[in-house]
Amino acid sequence: MIAIDEARALVLAECGRLEVERVPAARAPGRVLAEDLCAQVALPPFDNAAMDGFALACDGTHLPAGGVWEVAGVQAAGDARAHAVHGAWRIMTGAALPPGTDTVVPVEQVDVLARGGGGEPERIRLTADAARGQHVRRAGEDVGPGMRVLDAGTRVGAVEQMLLAALGVSTVAVRRAPRVALVSTGRELVDDPAQPLAPGRIRNSNGPYLAEEFRTRDADIVLQATIADDPAHYAEALRQAMALGCDLVISTGAVSMGEFDFVPAALDALQARIVFHKVRIRPGKPLLFAVLPTGALFFGLPGNPVSAAVGLRFFVDPALRAMRDQPPERPLRVPLAVDVRKKVGLCHLQKARLAADAQGRLGVRPLPGQESFRILPLARANAWAVLPEAADVLAAGTMVEVYGQAPGTWRLVEEGCDI
Ligand code: AMP
Ligand code: MG
Repeated sequence: MIAIDEARALVLAECGRLEVERVPAARAPGRVLAEDLCAQVALPPFDNAAMDGFALACDGTHLPAGGVWEVAGVQAAGDARAHAVHGAWRIMTGAALPPGTDTVVPVEQVDVLARGGGGEPERIRLTADAARGQHVRRAGEDVGPGMRVLDAGTRVGAVEQMLLAALGVSTVAVRRAPRVALVSTGRELVDDPAQPLAPGRIRNSNGPYLAEEFRTRDADIVLQATIADDPAHYAEALRQAMALGCDLVISTGAVSMGEFDFVPAALDALQARIVFHKVRIRPGKPLLFAVLPTGALFFGLPGNPVSAAVGLRFFVDPALRAMRDQPPERPLRVPLAVDVRKKVGLCHLQKARLAADAQGRLGVRPLPGQESFRILPLARANAWAVLPEAADVLAAGTMVEVYGQAPGTWRLVEEGCDI
């Protein structure tokens, strides 16, 4: 049985990179950028007003209070840059500064001395000193042309989408979505929630769980099958997955030592290469990793729901990152909020809550109910605590590694930064 780090290194060694494709920016959210993105244009694109008020030209360092100005025109957001003449310009937030003007005086800091027929100001007096350049958003102040704004490996979310839209980026190079097959094994499993349970049967919870997890990971689920512990049907499902060009096959159940745990034999029969079977972790110890003849990666996760979740989070997620050419995720290091006792010789991956105490200090608390069949604590958890293999008792205050329940739970974790 190998240790978790060795097992994960073996997984990473088998991961190829997904091909790069160009997609319209509107379809980029959820995808991972394959190239650094450099701005072609400046943001803001032109000097513009940060306040509603008057745009003025300032000779020196400031315009003194009491100065009287004739109003030469009006400039609203969306107007082309007016040809400036002397004087003050009524200006609205976001409107281009007329050439020659360089300072905006907020409307609250003027007295209107004269108005035109429509009530528009014609002459104003400043009621406060104005510093040169005040309330002006300079062209390129946010993003200069040519600046690298997004790194390859960034997952495009709403904020990245905002940036792409602001920059007028129409297409981006991203990694293609991985094609995934999900195979649940177990003759006890019932897929249809409307079907009453016969004695001894249980509902398939791993299938819907994994489908949703892969949906949030922007994978294409090309096959989803439930196999009643029949090796021939199972082999057929794997052949189908390969024919569909799957990159990943995620199978649950039938990898332990039971009489019906047929997955290793089925893989041998298909001439898959089993890279490892069993890892010194709890839960999820019987995890099996193999490479299918097509090169697809095969993860045989034990059937207990939390074992399947651990397999996904600690083995499949690192593989997905590698396939998308993202750097490995880095955990937080957080003090345990309570004393913890564990079994020596297995790395425990525990359902946990990361929370701040009354002083705002982060701590992590493994939850009661760590058994691999218990789903409810998983629903109450927001994190995974990693308790090292060699430890038996870990006192409160011991620093442990903490992963978000899902990748990207904390943006800073995904970016590989420390808190
Ligand atoms: P196995 O790994 O096949 O020995 O299954 C271990 C335990 O997980 C058994 O109690 C199974 O009934 C349960 N189990 C297996 N597959 C699923 C599934 N898809 N959904 C819920 N429980 C499962
Ligand atoms: Mg089973």
